[in-house]
Amino acid sequence: MAYRYRCGECGFSTRWTTESEAEDLSVAHYADRHPRLVPGGSVEINRKNPEAVSCLPMIGITLLLLLIIASCRR
Ligand SMILES: [Zn+2]
Repeated sequence: MAYRYRCGECGFSTRWTTESEAEDLSVAHYADRHPRLVPGGSVEINRKNPEAVSCLPMIGITLLLLLIIASCRR
C-alpha cells in the first residue's frame, strides 16, 4: 500500500511512499512552510496500485496457458 499526506494549510501533498516516510515528509513540510502550526492535514491510502501490479503476472500466465491449450488442440 502507498501513503500520501495532504497538507491542511496549503495545496501541498507528499509523493506516494511508505507510511513512515510520508509522515516524515509531512512533518518536514510543516517545519519549512508552517513552522508555528502543529502538523496536521489528512492521509490518503492507495490500495489499488500494488494489487494491480501483482495481478498482471497472473493475467499473463493465464493467457499463456490458454494459448498453449489452444495450440495443442489443433
Ligand atoms: Zn502546507
